[in-house]
Amino acid sequence: MTQEANPFESLQEQIDDAAAYIDADDDVIDRLKHPERVLETNLTIDMDDGTTGRFKAFRSQFNGDRGPYKGGIRYHPGVNRDEVKALSGWMVYKCATVGIPYGGGKGGIVIDPSEHSAGEVERVTRAFAKELRPFVGEDEDIPAPDVNTGQREMNWIKDTYETLEGKTEPGVVTGKAIESGGSEGRVEATGRSTMLAAREVFDYLDRDISQAKVAVQGYGNAGWIAAKLIDELGADVVAVSDSSGAIHNPNGFDPVAVKDFKRETGSVAGYEDADDEFTNEDLLTMDVDLLVPAALENAIDEELAREVSADVIVEAANGPLTPDADDVLTERDVHVVPDILANAGGVTVSYFEWVQNRQRFYWDEARVNDELETIIVNAFDRMTEAYESFDTPNLRTACYVNAIQRVLNAYEDAGNWP
Ligand code: GLU
Repeated sequence: MTQEANPFESLQEQIDDAAAYIDADDDVIDRLKHPERVLETNLTIDMDDGTTGRFKAFRSQFNGDRGPYKGGIRYHPGVNRDEVKALSGWMVYKCATVGIPYGGGKGGIVIDPSEHSAGEVERVTRAFAKELRPFVGEDEDIPAPDVNTGQREMNWIKDTYETLEGKTEPGVVTGKAIESGGSEGRVEATGRSTMLAAREVFDYLDRDISQAKVAVQGYGNAGWIAAKLIDELGADVVAVSDSSGAIHNPNGFDPVAVKDFKRETGSVAGYEDADDEFTNEDLLTMDVDLLVPAALENAIDEELAREVSADVIVEAANGPLTPDADDVLTERDVHVVPDILANAGGVTVSYFEWVQNRQRFYWDEARVNDELETIIVNAFDRMTEAYESFDTPNLRTACYVNAIQRVLNAYEDAGNWP
């Protein structure tokens, strides 16, 4: 195993790769490689056993040139400052890729929520919301779900904020439950844009996705919905995995049945009619047409990239390839649709939720899905236009060229003040 890549350095390398195609001085590009500010805090709560628990937490506000900071909050024992900084930077370029009026932010708490009661998770969430209160708001910074967080946590953040502020402001956070001001289609949105990106890239490459064999790494919210919607296009999902194991069936799985099994047992491992000798590494190197990494950063490093047999990769996770893996895959002509486009459905429907919250006027699911499709398809077309006109080595660099240019335009329009 090569040494684990630092995601913050990966982000900076991705920006440098694209900057070579942009007419801007190095000092201006340098500004786009660092967060504006990072909050680091220690949350202390009463534990169920009467002791005091301490949890480290971060919120990085990377860039606000295009609008309020926007991005999720993840709960994971591996959360650290550089990871949160990288994730907040990816949000900047993700929002610019799909052209929604936000900057980028991200937060995280160093916690494994599966080791804690709902009461402890609620107390730590509300403690974080209290710490974030001076820095968030519908025009300042708008958190959302990420790894191991969802509607429940967002409802608590909204309630804490509104209670302390003494006002109604549902747009302070997105990804809420419907009755708390959430949007139809938000839960499915990340998986839906992954499916749309897969459909578009197959079309671009003149390949038929309905004949594709597909492997999906990670079976959380993004992975399982992507599997379900790609299966609905006629493709066969032949391998899936989660943190406790991987399964394979050459005839394809029913993604909904696998999800039901995981809901009951806690894992995809042990699912019927599956080869259970199969590993996560077997999945990532399997001979499939489409590979969807939908777990965490650095799933595929340089060594593994040499073994990848898929023709196309669509990134549902944030940062699943190290830059060295990216170089190897570019060299090997594996087409990669980058995270900042493929998983941008989540933040795009967050934007729809925020618009609905501010207008107090709610859309039906068909409208949400329609508007999402228009945005993702347009962003895909802009990416392939840049790929062809700048002759970039891969789709990621093309995507970053467009995104950085948008952020630079906003920066130059406003000027540098004070
Ligand atoms: N956490 C998601 C992401 O990485 C969604 C962010 C949002 O909705 O603001 O894109």
